[in-house]
Amino acid sequence: MSAKFFIDKVIEAEESPFDRQTRISWWDQEKLRNAKVLVVGAGAIGNETLKNLALLGIGNIYIVDFDTVSTSNLSRTVLFRKTDKGKQKAEVAAIRTKELALQEDACVHWFHGDAVWELGTGVFREMDVVLGCLDNVETRFFVNRQCWLANTPWIDAGIYELGGHVTVFTPPEPPCYECGVSNEQRAAARKRYSCDDFKRTLLEEGKMPTVQVTSSLVSAIQVQETLKLLCGQRVESGKKIYFQGKVNDFDILNLPKNHNCFGHVSYPEIISLPLTNSIKLREFLEFVSKEQLSGLGATLDYRGDRTFVVSVVCKSCGKSIKLNKPSFRIFDVETICANCQGGVVNNLVQSEQVSVKQTIAEFNLAQTSDELLNISLWQLGIPYRHVVAVHDQEQNYKYYELSQDNSFIQV
Ligand SMILES: [Zn+2]
Ligand SMILES: [Zn+2]
Repeated sequence: MSAKFFIDKVIEAEESPFDRQTRISWWDQEKLRNAKVLVVGAGAIGNETLKNLALLGIGNIYIVDFDTVSTSNLSRTVLFRKTDKGKQKAEVAAIRTKELALQEDACVHWFHGDAVWELGTGVFREMDVVLGCLDNVETRFFVNRQCWLANTPWIDAGIYELGGHVTVFTPPEPPCYECGVSNEQRAAARKRYSCDDFKRTLLEEGKMPTVQVTSSLVSAIQVQETLKLLCGQRVESGKKIYFQGKVNDFDILNLPKNHNCFGHVSYPEIISLPLTNSIKLREFLEFVSKEQLSGLGATLDYRGDRTFVVSVVCKSCGKSIKLNKPSFRIFDVETICANCQGGVVNNLVQSEQVSVKQTIAEFNLAQTSDELLNISLWQLGIPYRHVVAVHDQEQNYKYYELSQDNSFIQV
């Protein structure tokens, strides 16, 4: 009898792909199965991280990237094939992650778009942890702000040549990513934009010197920290794990805490509304003007979040150009009127001065023009599943999540 029992146990263990890891004393496979993890960036680090999450049995994986697969990516991206050239990274990564996923009912979702402007705070709020697999400071700033607003932990990973770093951040406890940021890094975060906030037309993206083995190493540390966090184990937040592979120097750096840091803003309470960002501004304002929400005079407030530009003055001739768009959808060439377009490049080079622009930061039924009331929240620049700030007549703020938005596609 005992021999038969013994054999059954052996077969059972060998049939579970998670047998060896669940033998770790503190392991909680059920927590990993229920976890929601957002991976921002499906490049060199993102590929490794997604492969790791799939093999570990993470149950709900979300992937965002705005880029497409190119030949030069292939040496560092285990999920991409030569035949994927030109396809959206987020989608290909999601399909391959789903194929690798060892959790039977794993759900993998993808979103092709700009994480900075197209993903709202509600997406970050839904996650158990956000993994930054990024190559730029701007997106790190953004992920950090969103995670603080939503009170969601995030783990930053970065690489350079044979070196890399990983840092766990656990809001609301400082430090955050922004606490220790230098002025150079702050300037680097702005390089996609002209000095007056518009997108640069001509921009050579940085091509980082690195190699697959480094991204693999850094991703392994990032995902190991993720496992500890998800299984309720101690993580050292705010300590940068820093590795220089060329000389095998492994260091732990304490990031500075800045108690006056702008990054530490969080929402006191978030109210979910059964709305999406496809509704018109007028319908939204009517909805939040209900007595039990913000009441009559409800005003959508953009300050500190994004800028809506009504018009700019042509840098060349001074004529007013109507735009009615959020600043992140305006390219610098649009600030030169059609008549002056002939000398676009010269004008842009010569005019380092800031554009004269008319912007709107507040919208309500009484003061906003009919033209703007008839555009959608998306056209106004509000991303999917965003949390928006609305104040009443007494300037009391409420924070509403557009909870019906679903920007992600499930494979
Ligand atoms: Zn901070
Ligand atoms: Zn002009």
